[in-house]
Amino acid sequence: MLPELSNPSVCMRDPKRVQEILESMQKAGSNTLQVISDFDMTLTRFAYNGKRCPTCHNILDNSKLISDDCKEKLKNLLDTYYPIEIDSTRSVDEKLPLMVEWWTRAHDLLVEQRIKKDLLASAVRESEAMLRDGYQLFFDHLYEHSIPLLIFSAGIGDILEEVIRQAGVFHPNVKVFSNYMDFDESGVLKAFKGELIHIYNKREGALLNTGHFQELRTRPNVLLLGDSLGDLTMADGVQDIENILKIGFLNDKVEERKQSYMDSYDIVLIKDETLEVSNAIMLYLTGNK
Ligand code: C5P
Ligand code: MG
Repeated sequence: MLPELSNPSVCMRDPKRVQEILESMQKAGSNTLQVISDFDMTLTRFAYNGKRCPTCHNILDNSKLISDDCKEKLKNLLDTYYPIEIDSTRSVDEKLPLMVEWWTRAHDLLVEQRIKKDLLASAVRESEAMLRDGYQLFFDHLYEHSIPLLIFSAGIGDILEEVIRQAGVFHPNVKVFSNYMDFDESGVLKAFKGELIHIYNKREGALLNTGHFQELRTRPNVLLLGDSLGDLTMADGVQDIENILKIGFLNDKVEERKQSYMDSYDIVLIKDETLEVSNAIMLYLTGNK
């Protein structure tokens, strides 16, 4: 057993099963492995020094690119809908239309702000976004071992890319599926492109056309990282999966949600702001541990 799996933040429904999956994936070799990860609150920190860290949307919401009046409206949306997102007493069916409503209303407000493309980089630079501790090893090691990393995010692709670019880890093995901004010829935001990705439609439907999975057919072993129960379906587009190991970050409303996370993720990391466990697993799977 990897020593990191005994960290106090780690909870497992069935440690023996985790061990079996890990051994089977390790035996298959790192050329059969792919990583599929959520972004906000999975690759980025949930909190730092007791203060909440921003999501992709929050980076914009809190930036100079948004008027005070609009900031207020976006904050009201967050205060209304985030508690619904993490409410374990409501079903997905009940939450889904409300989540679509949140994303749609927020995107409409952002579009009204006529955001300029060339100011996004400075908004990210001035933000408090932080990747989790250990991100450098995570991204660099996957790149050095030619393991594809798909970041599947209901956040904003342009912002997400900028976060990892500024951190120096946007390597060529990284592919991003997310909500991308559409700018007019003068570089002003006019809409969001394509079908909306929200927390409850992260599955193959959004991906089938992209051709990405074509390239990944020969990689039937999946390491999946997420922080929401909606992230569990991110690998649904991968055909003929041999093994999948699901790691879930449980950041908020821990007591209420622990059981449901334990039921669906193989490894649950409770209020763990690091990639330490994921890195240990990645090193093991690539024969480096
Ligand atoms: O990258 P990920 O899929 O985790 O991004 C989705 C997150 O963005 C959600 O967990 C949600 O809390 C957050 N969000 C936000 N503002 C919005 C819509 C979603 O902060 N307007
Ligand atoms: Mg997330």
